[in-house]
Amino acid sequence: MDFEVVIGLEVHAQLRTKTKIFCSCATSFGDEPNANTCPVCTGLPGALPVLNRRVVEYAVKAGLATNCQIVNDSVFARKNYFYPDLPKGYQISQFDRPICLGGYLDIKVAGQEQKRIGITRIHMEEDAGKLVHPEHLYGVSYVDYNRACVPLLEIVSEPDMRSSAEAVAYLRALRDILVYLEICDGNMEEGSFRCDANVSIRPFGQQEFGTRAELKNMNSFRNVQRAIEYEVERQRKVIAGGGQVVQETRLWDVEKAMTISMRGKEEAHDYRYFPDPDLLPVQIPAEWISDLGASLPELPQAKKTRFISTYELAEVDAEGLTSSRALADFFEEAVKRFANPKMVSNWVMSELLRYLNDEKTSIDACPVTPAGLAALLAMIEAGTISGKIAKKVFATMYRERQNDPAAIVAAQGLVQIDDTSALAEVVRQVLAANPAEVEKYYGGKQKVFGFLVGQVMRQTRGQANPGLVNELLQQQLDAGRP
Ligand SMILES: [Zn+2]
Repeated sequence: MDFEVVIGLEVHAQLRTKTKIFCSCATSFGDEPNANTCPVCTGLPGALPVLNRRVVEYAVKAGLATNCQIVNDSVFARKNYFYPDLPKGYQISQFDRPICLGGYLDIKVAGQEQKRIGITRIHMEEDAGKLVHPEHLYGVSYVDYNRACVPLLEIVSEPDMRSSAEAVAYLRALRDILVYLEICDGNMEEGSFRCDANVSIRPFGQQEFGTRAELKNMNSFRNVQRAIEYEVERQRKVIAGGGQVVQETRLWDVEKAMTISMRGKEEAHDYRYFPDPDLLPVQIPAEWISDLGASLPELPQAKKTRFISTYELAEVDAEGLTSSRALADFFEEAVKRFANPKMVSNWVMSELLRYLNDEKTSIDACPVTPAGLAALLAMIEAGTISGKIAKKVFATMYRERQNDPAAIVAAQGLVQIDDTSALAEVVRQVLAANPAEVEKYYGGKQKVFGFLVGQVMRQTRGQANPGLVNELLQQQLDAGRP
């Protein structure tokens, strides 16, 4: 029997606020344990939460950017459960009146039509603390409350995805938006953008959903994809073997490359939600919503579409260039100074990104400036240097943080040789030094031509004008044809 895969995703995005959601403690990552705590976030009796206005602003921005309706009197609820990292005994979250409802995101998987994925809701909540288990002290746990009360958005999708590729495309699109809005740093390894996946399968044509498993602990796009694929296959085998899929939470184990059962349905929590009496409903004036809407930056999809139409770029290039706001800005800055978008795009996507990736540097810290790159490309176009020499110059620019390519070319004597008589002499020498190859060429081996061009380029340390070399070589070979 053939099965259809059904996937819904719950994303937790940590917001980039300076202070926590209900107190003024810092949210900075990696500080000494419990350095950033107070009576509110450690849940001491009598401490009262005060909502951080910035969190509401970010939640509204995320909602508007994902086409949601903003609920202007949403309510905070207590989600009750006991765990040592949750000192109050409940987590402040939102339940039946979340701040955003009913949005969507359009995604595109290579080779498929664009597809719309529904967003059920977005709500605000606080993070919990963290248990630390020291390596050499068996049975001992420490608690670090620095993360307690750090603001999160939970973004819940409809079960609209039908493959692991669609799930990853949705996650990427969502992360791009949050990062563009500058409300989340999108770092999956550090856990500031994390996702749980609800995965089930059903026979094609069946209306009701199959029993689902909830997958946790996937800290990269690659792991999300692998975990879903493993889980779909596992459920298929269970059903093929006459068994039944049970509802449970499963962890992705990277080392073993498999999902492992964590807890079953019978242990599933009953959270007994009720409205938090310490917090008023969140009222958002319509004017504030429209101001926030007007302040939204151009979002990744709109930017990509504009790059394709304005700069006539291929879709794959436009997608790469708009994958981060800083990279897109770099590209547009360079194009302002050197009006050949295709050439700028090629250099950014190949040379520039290769260096950045090799050195694990982000575009914000790129030593080559848009103006420097534009100046370099102008030298290629003017015929002052060849593309090959330009790559050497680029390497120097990058390594030495030097953004004057003309100075590097002058200092290293790399100016392209355009002198016809000088090049004709080199061509003569190469032909004289390679009589056997020349004979093969006359015998019909066209490939030898490329070899001879290569020899001339070598003699001139890559500085000969390649067009001119081709021309001169052809002339001399034709003239000497027996
Ligand atoms: Zn605090």
